[in-house]
Amino acid sequence: MAVPQNKVTKSRRNMRRSHDSLVADNPNECPSCGELKRPHHVCPSCGHYADREVVAMADEVDFDDEDAA
Ligand SMILES: [Zn+2]
Repeated sequence: MAVPQNKVTKSRRNMRRSHDSLVADNPNECPSCGELKRPHHVCPSCGHYADREVVAMADEVDFDDEDAA
């Protein structure tokens, strides 16, 4: 079994971990629905990007056709 040749000191361990912290994302307010969304991403709540709808949302899809068939 491989064993570390040298002890990693608290200083060296902490220096390695200095890059491990998570950074909070920076949400923007959606101009069409007002929900918080990631910058440069399609809004997950209304499907808009740059004032036009690019993704049809599930609540707008009519599922009644399946029941009638
Ligand atoms: Zn939106």
